[in-house]
Amino acid sequence: MMKKTIKIPIFAVLFGALFFAMYQETSAQGRKKTNKKPAAVAVQPVAPTISYTVSMSKPATHLLEVEMRLNWATMPEKAELKMPVWTPGSYLIREYARHVESFSAKDAGGTDLTWRKTDKNTWQIDAKGKQEIVARYNVYANELTVRTNELNDEHAFFNNSALLMFPKDNLKAASTVKVVPFGNWKAATGLPKVEGQENTFRAENFDVLYDSPFEVSDFKEISFDVQGKPHRYVVTGDGNYDLQKIARDTAKIVEEGYKMFGELPYNDYLFILNTRGGGGLEHLNSTALQFNRLGFTTRYKDFLNLVAHEYFHLWNVKRIKPDALGPFDYENENYTKSLWFAEGGTAYYESVLNRRAGIITADEFLTARETQILALQNRPGRFETSLEDASFDAWIKFYRPDENAVNNQISYYDKGELVNFLLDVEIRRASNGAKSLDDVLRFLYAEFAKKNKNYTPEDFQKICETMAGKSLNDFFEKYVRGTEEIDYNAILSGIGLQLTTGSGNQAAYLGADLTQTGDKLTVRALPAGAPAYEQGLNTADEIIAVDGNRASQTFLSSFLNDKRPGDKIRLTVFRFDRVRDIEITLGGRVAPDYKIVAVANPTDEQKRLYQSYFGTELK
Ligand SMILES: [Zn+2]
Repeated sequence: MMKKTIKIPIFAVLFGALFFAMYQETSAQGRKKTNKKPAAVAVQPVAPTISYTVSMSKPATHLLEVEMRLNWATMPEKAELKMPVWTPGSYLIREYARHVESFSAKDAGGTDLTWRKTDKNTWQIDAKGKQEIVARYNVYANELTVRTNELNDEHAFFNNSALLMFPKDNLKAASTVKVVPFGNWKAATGLPKVEGQENTFRAENFDVLYDSPFEVSDFKEISFDVQGKPHRYVVTGDGNYDLQKIARDTAKIVEEGYKMFGELPYNDYLFILNTRGGGGLEHLNSTALQFNRLGFTTRYKDFLNLVAHEYFHLWNVKRIKPDALGPFDYENENYTKSLWFAEGGTAYYESVLNRRAGIITADEFLTARETQILALQNRPGRFETSLEDASFDAWIKFYRPDENAVNNQISYYDKGELVNFLLDVEIRRASNGAKSLDDVLRFLYAEFAKKNKNYTPEDFQKICETMAGKSLNDFFEKYVRGTEEIDYNAILSGIGLQLTTGSGNQAAYLGADLTQTGDKLTVRALPAGAPAYEQGLNTADEIIAVDGNRASQTFLSSFLNDKRPGDKIRLTVFRFDRVRDIEITLGGRVAPDYKIVAVANPTDEQKRLYQSYFGTELK
């Protein structure tokens, strides 16, 4: 769903000019005071021709060398080149400009041009009278994450948003990228090749360019077709993976995506896999995956969850886009309240696709939900922050959690995944099994993505209600916009399931999240309301003794096992540099043990809806 540059018809230009003249006149007479230019005057100057060359002649220095040629019939007197401050999919200002060094600017004949920085990410070049300018700079690339760059003697991985500058106000301009690999390395990216030019690729605009990372190395590769479309893995780094098996299982995931939407909306798809680092980032027709080299046997299903997650994003967020997420503003935060669906919904569908593909069982699917419920119910922050608020504040909170996050935040992934599951169940129940969250996604794809429209939170709720055939306002008010405790059983019963919390005697409860590093036992976080929090323990306190006994995590846990609710214990701690004793009266609680099980006497309707959801019989 790439945006084309809009050509303004001639009558619009004329009308614009006329309007502009009127506006100027009105303005001159002082009857209208505004700094805003009317939208209709937007004149389309000829777009610049942009070509980048990315070299990596000295991998050990971690410096990627960029040459940017800008040929422009309407070159401004002062040409401004800008470095993005973030990359879509990872909602944090990362200030990529801080890695830029050795900047220079010349004209086509090689004469130096004067330049200056005018803000943190803008390089302004005196380009008066020039048709072509050539900027060169290096980018320090020594951080392997899916949203940064790394160059070393093993490979180069780069995100174009963290490497390539754009000319101000020209994000719709097309460009080419030529890669000069080190030694015998090969280059892989989702961008189409420029025929007849080695290692040269074309992007039709900056949203596409910045959505197409590169891997350059002596990678291993495997290709496979699904529904006639080529898919390819390139893998850098050794590990205990079986590439044939990965290709076979990935093909099953792709097939499930195809079944759901009825088409694969790309010409080809590239999986870039590094066996160092961790995590994934979604792109238009590619994804960057990082997974531990020795995790492909014991944690293979986790790997396939990662694959399914990033792959499903090609629909949910890359094409089905919430309000602010594309076309992007690369210099500022792009706020949306919908990450709970864009991310949480994708997290939910990673399990759904893998269950439908036979990669995980219904039991494994439900166990994952139980784990999420446990995590959410242990977070006092669930009463502070709603899913929409957590989405909106991702920029300042999600990527910067501190020790108090447990008390004032929730994850739009974890709670989002749960609420999307419950929403799916609710739509199925309300529509008597006729519709599901699949239909919501298909509608968003057909009526929004394909028509190049982004959806708002209101659109989303309305579409869910259309599918459910009833108002879901109560659900959205409580669980999406609000912070009410989730009534799991009221919803799960729709498909014949219920949540049990476990039973047993109350055990002594301290309520401190501790971490042991070597000999040091320290307080990592304190959930609000727990005895430790209420009675004066602080995060970062180092616990050295319990009732006069040397403290360690194992000792403390067996010590507490022998205590009863209401017993007092004395913790000796270092707080900063001073030692002190803290007396704590232990609380009591039944440690929750969440299980999702069948209801006692399921009705025929519950049995039918369970069957249509899981494809197996309710037992
Ligand atoms: Zn995601």
